[in-house]
Amino acid sequence: MLTYTYISKGTFALTEKPKPVIQHERDAVVKVTLASICSSDLHIKHGSVPRAVEGITVGHEMVGVVEEIGSAVTHVKPGDRVTVNVETFCGECFFCKRGYVNNCTDKNGGWALGCRIDGGQAEYVRVPLADTGLNKIPDSVTDRQALFVGDVLATGFWAARISEISEEDTVLIIGAGPAGICTLLCVMLKNPKQIIVCETDENRIRFIREHYPEVLTVTPEKCLGFVKERCKNGGADVVIEAAGADTTFRLAWECARPNGIVTVVALYESAQTLPLPEMYGKNLTFKTGGVDGCDCDETLRLIAEGKIDTEPLITHTYPLERIGEAYRVFENREDGVIKIAVDCSMQDNR
Ligand SMILES: [Zn+2]
Ligand SMILES: [Zn+2]
Repeated sequence: MLTYTYISKGTFALTEKPKPVIQHERDAVVKVTLASICSSDLHIKHGSVPRAVEGITVGHEMVGVVEEIGSAVTHVKPGDRVTVNVETFCGECFFCKRGYVNNCTDKNGGWALGCRIDGGQAEYVRVPLADTGLNKIPDSVTDRQALFVGDVLATGFWAARISEISEEDTVLIIGAGPAGICTLLCVMLKNPKQIIVCETDENRIRFIREHYPEVLTVTPEKCLGFVKERCKNGGADVVIEAAGADTTFRLAWECARPNGIVTVVALYESAQTLPLPEMYGKNLTFKTGGVDGCDCDETLRLIAEGKIDTEPLITHTYPLERIGEAYRVFENREDGVIKIAVDCSMQDNR
């Protein structure tokens, strides 16, 4: 089968690999219908994910149809349409029981797919711990509507959930890339008083204005002043940093009001400084880390109810054979791209 493979730092390529097989009783093999490209794939390409293993198939955001299950799998069966979770988790360890599935202590736990084991930019993917890693897509939800449930939408949902947002709050979201927009959609479900999105890219600002006209937008240079003007307590009650640029961590805590919450969901390519003397007395609460994607059934239900719609984020669609081109467009942000759907249902294309 055709797969998109991490060859070495700087190089991904289409390669042929054997179709995956069940290796463990809790595995499932999923025939991928749609996959997407995530900025974390680019982080692997740039060599900034040290645990990524050369030779693996990349891709950790996909939907498909269950092809085969191991003998211990009970939640899904062949023929089920499913989303695949970016996190592999056992559901039984200390962290899983508390919903911290990103820290699952199973040897396969955490971000394994498309990083440490073969992922889903391929015709088929083997998913370990399939009962927790796969979620059935409701009949009324299409593959395109469900494509981001297992990763970028899970990130947005988790970011909004841990940020303790109330209806009195002003929420500042830094970054209107895919993670920022998904965060915005989930923050909107909490009905805060005011939402401000800070973004530098004109296309992305236009996208926000067009789709979510009630949201205020600002560029990074003007952000601090803009936020202070619109928040009576000296800053935003909640800041969610989803950009991960060199200057955005600092911007995030500077824009937060004293005793505010700063949630960092961005994955930085370099270390950031935490200048504690400058922050002294501001009494901020920082929340950081990788997504705990344990709410996929709930997000699928919200999609089915029409409360979350991520389909407008899919600005481009490519067949798997042309994924190299799709990466170039995504990486260089060509042609107003937000997210790309990669059609992996090769039999239909051939
Ligand atoms: Zn991702
Ligand atoms: Zn676990």
